[in-house]
Amino acid sequence: MTETYDPENIFAKILKGEIPSNKVYEDDLTFAFMDIMPRADGHTLVIPKNQARNILDVDSVDLAAVMTSVQKIARGLVQAFDADGILIQQFNEPAAGQIVYHLHFHVIPRHEGVKLKPPASEMADQEILQSNAYRLRAAL
Ligand code: AMP
Repeated sequence: MTETYDPENIFAKILKGEIPSNKVYEDDLTFAFMDIMPRADGHTLVIPKNQARNILDVDSVDLAAVMTSVQKIARGLVQAFDADGILIQQFNEPAAGQIVYHLHFHVIPRHEGVKLKPPASEMADQEILQSNAYRLRAAL
């Protein structure tokens, strides 16, 4: 596979501060923010700050840092959203459902008996995303 990293992808623009996001966490190597079309309240994306298209090209140090942040967000979501479970999703290349070509992990709180919304179906209200980001930040 010869696909390359596009430095103008939307998550690269979020990292550069060129477009806004509802940030919940960042450290030297990773950044986490609310998914704009959440499949459940609290749906968070965790990304490396360094360039990586997906799992196939990411540097192993960046991947390890991202997974550590994924765990931190997962634990925060259990606390902040009283989640019964946490779903982690990550897609690589169009055949696997990847739409944005900067590596990202979906961290989604699940509650018994509550169905997920379909992927990328409905843009959430900014106030709701802001308040969910605040709630999660307070639990980290
Ligand atoms: P996928 O590449 O299939 O994992 O899907 C990309 C995900 O990024 C979807 O869940 C979108 O809702 C989400 N998304 C796209 N643009 C933005 C954005 N500007 N801010 C936050 N999430 C986004």
